[in-house]
Amino acid sequence: MTEPLAQGSTIGILGGGQLGRMLAMAAARLGYKTHVFEPGSAPAADVAHRWTQAGYDDLDALRAFAEACDVITFEFENIPADALDALSGTTPLFPDRRALETSQDRLIEKAFLRDQGLATAPFAPLGSDVHAALSATGTPAILKTRRFGYDGKGQARIMAPDGAEAAFASLGGAPAIAEGFVDFSKEISVIAARGQDGAVAVFDPGENVHQDGILSVTTVPAAISATLRTDAVLIASRILTALDYVGVLGVELFVTPAGLVVNEIAPRVHNSGHWTQAGCAVDQFEQHIRAITGWPLGDGTRHANVTMENLIGEDVERAAALAGEPGVQIHLYGKSETRPGRKMGHINRVTGPA
Ligand code: AMP
Repeated sequence: MTEPLAQGSTIGILGGGQLGRMLAMAAARLGYKTHVFEPGSAPAADVAHRWTQAGYDDLDALRAFAEACDVITFEFENIPADALDALSGTTPLFPDRRALETSQDRLIEKAFLRDQGLATAPFAPLGSDVHAALSATGTPAILKTRRFGYDGKGQARIMAPDGAEAAFASLGGAPAIAEGFVDFSKEISVIAARGQDGAVAVFDPGENVHQDGILSVTTVPAAISATLRTDAVLIASRILTALDYVGVLGVELFVTPAGLVVNEIAPRVHNSGHWTQAGCAVDQFEQHIRAITGWPLGDGTRHANVTMENLIGEDVERAAALAGEPGVQIHLYGKSETRPGRKMGHINRVTGPA
């Protein structure tokens, strides 16, 4: 076994949101410093050793950042290719560029999943003729921009072919794909990790409920059959191995009568994995830090049933009232401004032993 990164080394984190904040806290527990790169406001910087506040087009700042770090990771996937060029060669990046580029673009991502033999929604690239794409996917369909989509943004639904032009126009000309509508009974996700030695650890799948396109609640265990639970684990393992991945990955899945359909992958810690903070000896944040610094992966066995609830916008005002409830763990992100739709914190409620 190779030795883990030395104590006191610096982990660079691209992106300074709440995911970066919780990664930085896990890194500190393992004796590491963190250096956050974030152009905007940075909840992660409050708990990091250093913060470079610069844009992803500031290549000099990126080079200096890379030189100051011993390993680099990221908490969001929309890092431009030029920025990756500026970082490359100096300092190891985990997960690597291929994982990032596969998940940054919905067309590349879907083609990769299909090549792995995994079920996805029927899909087609969207050229100038929206009806040509719809003939491959059928209707209803969803148009999605290939890049920069999150929380349901950059999407337009087409219920019948005569709504196609209006939906197409609403994307404003951004490169996009059409996806056939999947008739699912529920949405689940599975969070998994792969270490530098190739070992894989998969957390139990969680069941997700969204509101207005934003994750609202994750419940573990998901109410699915043992077969589907095993399938979810196998799907995640397959993706990790195919990408020669190092770090934590989130896989969002639809449950259908024909089995699991992969919606998308996120090459990072994931909101639907926050329950692991209360449900496992080693949570997704520590697991990611272990993977990228060369520690053995930890025990991600679920020891509790947990409901994770996001505190979105004014929900955060309930935090103090929730704090006294049995089994409730509170996580606040330190964001000074509350805005509708903004993730301000979350709670993990332990509902019983596993
Ligand atoms: P996404 O940004 O791709 O995760 O999509 C956001 C949400 O839209 C998902 O969580 C689903 O609820 C829904 N959705 C996305 N793609 C499809 C699809 N092909 N069929 C049905 N629902 C979908």
